[in-house]
This record gives sequence, structure tokens and C-alpha cells, in this order.
Amino acid sequence: MLRMLPGVDHVLEICSTQPFSKDVPKAVLVNAIRRILGTLRSGILDSEGEIAAESLSDNSITAVVMATVFQAMTPNLKPLVNATGVVVHTNLGRSLLPKTVIENVAVIAGCYSNLEYDLAAGKRGSRHAVVEELLCDISGAQAAMAVNNNAGAVLLCLETIARDREVIVSRGELVEIGGSFRVPDVMAKSGGILKEVGTTNRTHLTDYQNAIGVNTALLLKVHRSNYSVIGFTAEVGLQQLVELGARHTIPVMEDLGSGTFIDFSKYGLAKEPTVQESVAAGTDIVTFSGDKLLGGPQAGIIVGKKTIVDRVKQNPLARALRLDKMTLAALESTLRLYRDEDKAVEMIPTLRMLTMKPGDLKRRAVTLAEELQSIGNRRMEITIMERSSRAGGGALPLLELPSKCLGITIKGMSPNALEKSLRQNDPPIIGRIESDVYIIDPRTLTDDDLPIIGQAFKKIIKGLA
Ligand SMILES: *Cc1c(COP(=O)(O)O)cnc(C)c1O
Repeated sequence: MLRMLPGVDHVLEICSTQPFSKDVPKAVLVNAIRRILGTLRSGILDSEGEIAAESLSDNSITAVVMATVFQAMTPNLKPLVNATGVVVHTNLGRSLLPKTVIENVAVIAGCYSNLEYDLAAGKRGSRHAVVEELLCDISGAQAAMAVNNNAGAVLLCLETIARDREVIVSRGELVEIGGSFRVPDVMAKSGGILKEVGTTNRTHLTDYQNAIGVNTALLLKVHRSNYSVIGFTAEVGLQQLVELGARHTIPVMEDLGSGTFIDFSKYGLAKEPTVQESVAAGTDIVTFSGDKLLGGPQAGIIVGKKTIVDRVKQNPLARALRLDKMTLAALESTLRLYRDEDKAVEMIPTLRMLTMKPGDLKRRAVTLAEELQSIGNRRMEITIMERSSRAGGGALPLLELPSKCLGITIKGMSPNALEKSLRQNDPPIIGRIESDVYIIDPRTLTDDDLPIIGQAFKKIIKGLA
């Protein structure tokens, strides 16, 4: 059997005649061949020659090599269809950027720019200037800057304000966000000393008051993001905390988590505290994400009082967390849309999806249902169901956004098998299963996604026949 195994050069010669191979770097091809021949060799030795001779044929080996090479030539990070109805889905890349924003990123990525160059003065400038004025205009804050993400923003602010000193936080706000962001852990890394007050469900102003001492650097409020405390509860409002801080000349910081410039209650959704409200309450420093409810690129935005933001900018850690020009370009053009709220809601996909009208959801669900029905297969059963979408991104945790979903069952195929097939489609389609039915939520689909879903089902049905 070992003698039947062809040499690398022989396989290379055959593979080089394949149409796809001319786009493949030779090193990639040779590596794939070596690896596959190696696997076959160990297969022969392990099975003591019991391996099928057919798998050693030129045709069989070439097919395996070409499939491997095709994989190697495909990017690891690829687009997919989000049919989950979770708008800010962290695992699926959170927010989609508006078209105009993408165009601006493409321009800046391929050109030199005034990223850190002051064109009026003809000398070195600051990259913070790209977004500072816009952020101040929208939020009402005195000063602003942006870093890599909100986790970085929180770390940077704590390190600047509270290193080796105490930070007072309510026990009801010691949250863990998915992906290992935990308030106590970030605090420890920043060098701040966590001083917990109150209980899980109830914290009073006197709890903060009694905890204040000579070593207190900061009063911190953290948005609960992904959970809610209900029942016998009490918490101290931002306004009261700001007044307490002012009496003791201790700054107050709020980690808003998602952060929004728009009052969602105007659109029939639950009230999320806005950045403007936090600033207006007199909070010294406010941090939030760029790619959650804001709908922009991954970023951590810091707004607040000038004296503190200036110190944060001077922190050497700010350099380690700084934004690159593509993200800054994306953030700037997203923020520009916020100067007109109607325009922001219309153009920013995250906002458009969250505020989508029931009629629009129904129309999309019906269009997709018709597309799937046109495949005309009796094994497939499609119903339009009342289900809920979610905001995701640790925002509006209890809010169920009513949606019109497609429930799909295929006779002879389990929901799990259907889910797997669609997930392994090219491009992958990610939906969810609820009470044994595969669910597609049209809220998070783009127009381009509808034909992709149709094609995928056609392929699956054909495979069953
Ligand atoms: C999401 C979140 C973070 C982390 O923000 P990233 O932008 O993902 O780094 C921090 N704090 C709160 C309260 C959050 O909700």
C-alpha cells in the first residue's frame, strides 16, 4: 500500500493542470499535498494496510488536495446572514455600518490623510480632534475622545482617576458582560481599589456616603446592561450621586455600556438612559460603546468634564488603546448622521432594525415565505409566527421586540439538522430553534439576504430528494 502512494511531485503536476490552481501560490499547494500524503501514509500504517485502495488513486487525492486548497484560499472572516433577530449580536459582529460610512472608510483607508496633522497650523495635530467636536455637540459635554472599545475606555478612565485609590460601586452593579468583562476584574487591572456598597437588590445614598474616606477617588455607576433586578429594590439615581460627589469634591463616572444618543421611548421601545441625560446630570466622565446601540464601528467613547478628559488623553495607556484611521473615519461619519435624528434612524442599520414597523416586518416575512413556497416542495412547511426579536449588545435586556417570524419545518429533517445545514451554507445562515421549529426573523435580514436564503433551501431540498 505504501508503494502505491504517489510522490509530491507527481500530485503537484496533476493539480497544476486544475483550472483553480493557477491562482494558488505554489507554497500553499505543496503544503496541502504534503499534509494530505502524510495523513494517507499514517492511515495506511495505522490500519495495517486496510485502507481502501481507491483513496490512493490520482483522482481521489487530487480532489482532496483541491478541496483543502480551496479552504486555504477562502478568508477566515466572512459575511453571513443574521436571521436570529438579535440586532446587536456580539458573536456576529454587532452593528452594520451605513453605506455612506463604508464609502468614507474606503477612501480614508487608501489615502494619506490629516489623521494627526493640523492643516491650519502646518504641524502635528491630535487624532482626538477628528471626533471631539462632534461628540461634544451631540452630547453636550465639554470634552471627548474615543479609544478601542468601551472595556478599554473604562480601564483607561479608572487607571487615570483612581489608581491605588478607592472606587465606590453598588453591589447591584458589579456586572459581567459576555466575553470576560467583569467590573471587579477591570477595576483590579486598572489599579483601582473596589469598595463595594449596599446589597445586590438595594443600595442607598447613605451606603455611598458612609463609604467615602480620605482615599476615595471616584463614585462609579455601571449600567446593568444584560440583567435586571426586580422586586424589593432601591438604587441611587445619577443626580443624587453627582450631588454627593460635589459635596465631597469626588468625581462621578458612569459606564453607560451601550450608550445611545436617541431616546428609544419615542419609538415605542423601552427607555434607555441617553448620553445627553448623563452629561446633563453633571456626571464628570461617561463611557459607552461605539458599536452597540450607537450603530457605529467598535470603539469606546469617553465624554465629560474637560479637566478630567484632558488627563485621560495624557495617560500613556491612551496610546495603547488608540483608534486606527479606518475606525476613526467610520466613527466620524456615523456621528455626523446623528446631527439629524430622523436621518440617523433611517440610515443607521442598527437603529433602522430596532425601530422597524410591524407592517414592514410582516411584508418582509411574507416576501420570504413566498420565495420559499415557490420552491414548491410538499415536505417543507412554512408558517408566519408571532415571535420576539432582541436588541442584544447588553441593551434593553428585558425588552421583547414583537416580530413576524418564519417558522420552517421539513419532513424527514430534524430542526437541528436544518440549522446545521444552513449554518454550513456558503454564505452561512444563522437562525434559531424555538419549540422544535426552525425560526427566521426578518428584522435582522438585509434585502440581499432574501435570495441567499431561497437558494440555500433549494439546495437542501434537492439534497433530500
Ligand atoms: C458592553 C459593555 C462594556 C464593554 O463594551 P465593549 O465596547 O464591548 O468593550 C462595558 N460595560 C458595560 C456596562 C457594557 O454593557
